[in-house]
Amino acid sequence: MNVELVSIGDELLLGYTIDTNATFFARAAAELGIRVVRRSTVGDTAGEIADAVREALDRTGGVITSGGLGPTADDLTKASIAELFDRGLALDEGIWEALQARWKARKWPGEIPLANRTQALVPVGATVLTNRHGSAPGIWLEDPEGRWVAMLPGVPREFRGMTTDELLPRLTARMAATGASGLVVRSRTLRTTGIAESAIADALGKLSKDPMGVALAFLPGWEGVDLRLTVTDLPAEVADAQLQIAANALRARVGPWIYGEDETDLAGLVLDALRAMHRRAAVAESCTGGMLGMRLSAIPGSSDVFAGGIISYDNEVKVRHLGVRESTLRAHGAVSEETAREMATGARTRLGVDVGIGVTGIAGPSGGTPEKPVGTVWVAVDVLGNVQASRISSVGDRAEVRQRGTQAALALLLRALETR
Ligand code: ATP
Ligand code: MG
Repeated sequence: MNVELVSIGDELLLGYTIDTNATFFARAAAELGIRVVRRSTVGDTAGEIADAVREALDRTGGVITSGGLGPTADDLTKASIAELFDRGLALDEGIWEALQARWKARKWPGEIPLANRTQALVPVGATVLTNRHGSAPGIWLEDPEGRWVAMLPGVPREFRGMTTDELLPRLTARMAATGASGLVVRSRTLRTTGIAESAIADALGKLSKDPMGVALAFLPGWEGVDLRLTVTDLPAEVADAQLQIAANALRARVGPWIYGEDETDLAGLVLDALRAMHRRAAVAESCTGGMLGMRLSAIPGSSDVFAGGIISYDNEVKVRHLGVRESTLRAHGAVSEETAREMATGARTRLGVDVGIGVTGIAGPSGGTPEKPVGTVWVAVDVLGNVQASRISSVGDRAEVRQRGTQAALALLLRALETR
């Protein structure tokens, strides 16, 4: 089933609000074989809303709108779409009573504002979609040709809740009735780190274009390059089988760089590996200023294997609190393999744990030299006295250099733990 989404709200056009409703809907719907074939965004203007919905209906015949169902003057969705369908608006006593009860239950002072009455206005002949997550009900409006519009509130919590408990079941039933059910859109993401997009493409060769007939997207980011495989319009079992075959083919070529799938977090894998070995770790961070500690501590239960760390931004802190030698700093500089190694060892010994991680680099925008340009980061890990280091030449701005440095440190540690 193909549908279109119309997101309504000036704040979306101005860029103050990110359209998370559209992304949520597209993902949830794809699982059921409902495909969003086009998205549009319009402001809080009756004419714009009606135009967008009319065009979408002409193309696709099924439209979901988000936003503009509230009680204020800028909430125009219902009125403009009712007009498009040539329907009047009538007060729904049931909704009005529910709104009044809701007002009383919240113990707000005074009577419910009359403005709320607009929320109880329903286009004649429409079906009300119950909102268990807020006040404005949703509306389902259908014309004699079976073309429909589902209007949902813009508040993300309400939009998500109503999509799940009202809209998707309704669309699924509709597909079953028309015999269009059972086909899904499904994705699987292989997460790589430490290898460039172009190097992956090279390693994949012919497989980089639609491996085994499965669509492949390269999604580079600071965590690494995600490889997203997607199949569309297939029965669920066939979809899963095709994804498995394609994933196996990719793993055969770039397996060593793949650390996990879908939402896998490298920091979580590091913690798991430490836990399995009954080892505890500590960090020494210069250019990342605590990001590594943040990544590790963000994961519930990390305290059993993550002890803490030292943010050794200044050289004096590196010397005094980590035991980095002044001669090392003089001879090689703060951003060097030698310093990173001594930081890792310092973290391990000074915090009395088994594993130390050191990160030092030039995050920019200033401070680069021809030999050590901005983006140069050294990471080192000391596992029970066994020290390894690696250099990253990172692209991007300050934030990205720091994030990539953090990810590289986690990747180096994971590899060091796995090869023990
Ligand atoms: P309300 O009854 O609160 O007025 P509404 O249906 O009229 O609900 P909007 O006024 O359009 O919804 O938006 C309510 C809130 O939800 C705003 O804070 C807005 O920024 C946010 N919001 C609206 N649309 C979206 C969207 N597509 N994605 C994420 N947030 C959104
Ligand atoms: Mg509103």
